[in-house]
Amino acid sequence: MTGRRFTGGRLVLATHNQGKVDELVALLAPFGVSVKSASDFGLDAPEETETSFIGNARLKAHHVAQATGLPALADDSGIEIDVLGGAPGVYTADWAEGPGGRDFLRAMEKAWGLIVETGAAPPFSARFRCALVLAWPDGHEEVFEGAAEGQLVWPLRGALGHGYDPMFQPQGHDLTFAEMSGPQKNQLSHRAAAFRQMTSECFT
Ligand code: IMP
Repeated sequence: MTGRRFTGGRLVLATHNQGKVDELVALLAPFGVSVKSASDFGLDAPEETETSFIGNARLKAHHVAQATGLPALADDSGIEIDVLGGAPGVYTADWAEGPGGRDFLRAMEKAWGLIVETGAAPPFSARFRCALVLAWPDGHEEVFEGAAEGQLVWPLRGALGHGYDPMFQPQGHDLTFAEMSGPQKNQLSHRAAAFRQMTSECFT
């Protein structure tokens, strides 16, 4: 199946998350696209009211495509922890909320505390999931999904990356995402997996 081809050379990233912006800009670099983010247009993020990654990515992508008149790319992503029944899932970012704003150390401590409470034995399998939605101002959309399997580790390791990277060790690797360089993570990540599908259908 082939998606609508991306032409026109200008794309707006429908995210305010700098970690995601950095990764998507690096992934888009070989395609010669002029990339802006929703923040560059002074846009607010819409409320993520859906209960699936795809649903929330669709909301964000169409919001930005309508507001800017340009094609928009949204990412909605999160982590599923098997011993917690797939939580936090679409609520991954919410676990970082608290006094003083988002704090991912707090989110990771919460996740680890709940894992310990279950009394389960390691390894603690988990996966990052990512939905990418490319939306055009005429309402057309293309949807892609990717996943990265791995296990959660404690204590945290590494200072690179963003979000839950210091506790996620992808399958078949000894390093956490936060111990990997950007290019290394961008070969393995859930975002990169969804991105590869998007580029093969819409950018080549
Ligand atoms: P949302 O897609 O804006 O709802 O937020 C998803 C949340 O999932 C982010 O704020 C991060 O905490 C987490 N997340 C998504 N992708 C990654 C990743 O590549 N590394 C670490 N955390 C991630």
